[in-house]
Amino acid sequence: MDIRAARTVPRKDRLMALDNLTLLFSLALISGLMAASLAVTSSKGGRDGLRLWAIALALESLAWSLVALRGQLPLVVTMLFANLSLVAAQGVKLAAIHEFRGLRWPRLSFLLPLAAMLALMLVLEADDVRARIFCSSLVFAAQMALLARALYQDDTTRGGRAWWLIYGATLLLLLALSFRAAMALASAESFSTPLSQHAPNTVQLMVFVSVVALDLLGALGFILLVKERIERAVQRQAMTDGLTGIFNRRAFMERAKRELAIARRKRQPLALLMLDIDHFKRINDTYGHAAGDAALVEISRLVGKRLRQQDTFGRYGGEEFCILLPDTEEQGALTLAEALRQAVEATPLSVGKEQIGVTLSIGVGVCHAGCAACAGDVSKLLNDADRALYQSKAQGRNRTVSLALHCEAESATA
Ligand code: GH3
Ligand code: MG
Ligand code: MG
Repeated sequence: MDIRAARTVPRKDRLMALDNLTLLFSLALISGLMAASLAVTSSKGGRDGLRLWAIALALESLAWSLVALRGQLPLVVTMLFANLSLVAAQGVKLAAIHEFRGLRWPRLSFLLPLAAMLALMLVLEADDVRARIFCSSLVFAAQMALLARALYQDDTTRGGRAWWLIYGATLLLLLALSFRAAMALASAESFSTPLSQHAPNTVQLMVFVSVVALDLLGALGFILLVKERIERAVQRQAMTDGLTGIFNRRAFMERAKRELAIARRKRQPLALLMLDIDHFKRINDTYGHAAGDAALVEISRLVGKRLRQQDTFGRYGGEEFCILLPDTEEQGALTLAEALRQAVEATPLSVGKEQIGVTLSIGVGVCHAGCAACAGDVSKLLNDADRALYQSKAQGRNRTVSLALHCEAESATA
């Protein structure tokens, strides 16, 4: 049948014909190598979907090899298993995206296309190429739609560069497969003969090569998606205090510089609170270091939940915390500081079986709107808050002291 088809190949196709066999085996080799390298380099117990994606690529490599072997093995065997491998591969990709998102294996979306493809391959006549191309393209297109939907639903990555790569490739695949189905339906000549070694078919071959290229692009997109997430996690970890989960000192200082620059540009005030737990050493000495740790966590939680979204809360040192309050004048900062101090004083902390009372001393520093003296220098603001905190300790602890006048005086002369 293939030889008969070759005789009827249009002249343009004969001229542009590529060596199908070499091409198909090359694509199988590329997918296979990519699958192997992904399987070897992805982390063992990692639930990021990379191992599943490697399995999908291996299934695709098998499918391309089977397509290449058309003519060498019975047609029913090559086409049945090639199509089933391809459908299974897309199902495994869907499972990979679900694993990446921390969701369960999508059983129905995996099994239904597989059952549909099996039924189609068994029901449709082997030489009814048009019907086979039309139906299989529809199944693949439906799978692409499922993949696109799963990607779109992930709002942790949606809109990022890697996301656009994989999402764009998936949409283009959906388009290419719909085009393939439409062409077969329209009885286009190019889609009425199978793609085989003896029947060069340029249009179908181009669709095929585009599908494989987009598929590899999608794989790259998924790898980058995982990489981006790991980078974000590492970055977050580097900015976070391991015990309390709030900003660490370095991240707080970076944010403080940025907030100060914004405050200067918008000519807004910026307040800073420095909080220190009173007699914290006693908690450690009396109840142990673990109890001290638990108290730090509890206090940071108590304080954190009373802050606005735009406020920056960080652990400045052992039992010292800092809070940056954008667009906040001295009075507002004092009011909040007092509310925080009273909330901590009124809330006994559970330490083992006991309940203990803890208090805070708070120092307030403010960079007033338009103040030239502190606008470019975070350390001035920190020094003010620190000196205020020192005074609050000296005056007997469990109180709030402000040292905002220093800045105001310079502001007046600025
Ligand atoms: P003051 O009222 O003057 O602030 O007294 P204080 O005891 O709170 O202050 P001091 O600076 O003398 O002691 C702070 C203690 O905080 C000493 C240190 O062991 C403890 N500390 C620092 N970091 C941690 C931590 O991460 N966990 C625990 N459990 N303790 C810590
Ligand atoms: Mg202390
Ligand atoms: Mg201290």
